[in-house]
Amino acid sequence: MTILDAYRITREPFYRPVGREIELFEAAYASRMPVMLKGPTGCGKTRFVEHMAWRLGRPLVTVSCHEDMTASDLVGRFLLDAEGTVWHDGPLTLAVREGAICYLDEIVEARQDTTVVIHSLTDDRRILPLEKKNEVVTAHADFQVVISYNPGYQSVLKDLKESTKQRFGALAFAYPSPAVETEIVMREAGVERRMAETLVRIAERSRNLKGHGLEEGASTRMLVNAGLLVARGVPVEEACQVAMVVPITDDPDLREALSGAIAACL
Ligand code: ADP
Repeated sequence: MTILDAYRITREPFYRPVGREIELFEAAYASRMPVMLKGPTGCGKTRFVEHMAWRLGRPLVTVSCHEDMTASDLVGRFLLDAEGTVWHDGPLTLAVREGAICYLDEIVEARQDTTVVIHSLTDDRRILPLEKKNEVVTAHADFQVVISYNPGYQSVLKDLKESTKQRFGALAFAYPSPAVETEIVMREAGVERRMAETLVRIAERSRNLKGHGLEEGASTRMLVNAGLLVARGVPVEEACQVAMVVPITDDPDLREALSGAIAACL
């Protein structure tokens, strides 16, 4: 039993491929190429990496990046306990030592000085210097870095450095086609086909409002949530309000526009 057993995925996570992403990821992993999953929130990036970790039989260490995250949060730090100061590996170091896939979710949220700690791991050096500990960890042969990146949130202030981007192979994700998204909603929410088709039509309409006040349309995740409520007996219009309209905007006009789109699809 190793420390990483808790990070192993033992049951196949359902993932419906949209294109050749499985084959491409496998090829990238075979060369331990760092991979960037690019696409809007809720379109299946996290599910995909979970599926791939299961498929490749690797543990998956996921870190949700945020702006207060420091390099120490990733690599580790000395902490005081009963025996004095003891080094604790951070999640990245753990993955590097044990040969996991390390998934850094929403990497642009992290400050650029935090992001650069992955540089020496994402070129042919494959090392992680632990400066405070005076140790250089050589990555396990099975270790791989995967990051997610939502181009929609990008601003000049918050973007990946060019030198970071260029280390990755990138797979572009988008919301699936209506037929595929219907299958996903049926499977994930347990609703019947006609209901899933209706929810998908609603999402498509909401996505057309993107740029007209909405930053993003309803994601696949939101559709699944609406479906889960419907499966619990919530009337569809109410389920869509709870799972899609209210979370996505506070603007009364937009809420009205979205509610109109829902009514038109029912
Ligand atoms: P992201 O990481 O892109 O924000 P997630 O991977 O968390 O999004 O996807 C949100 C939800 O949408 C998942 O929990 C799953 O229910 C569903 N989903 C989206 N795309 C797929 C897919 N291709 N196959 C299976 N489920 C999917």
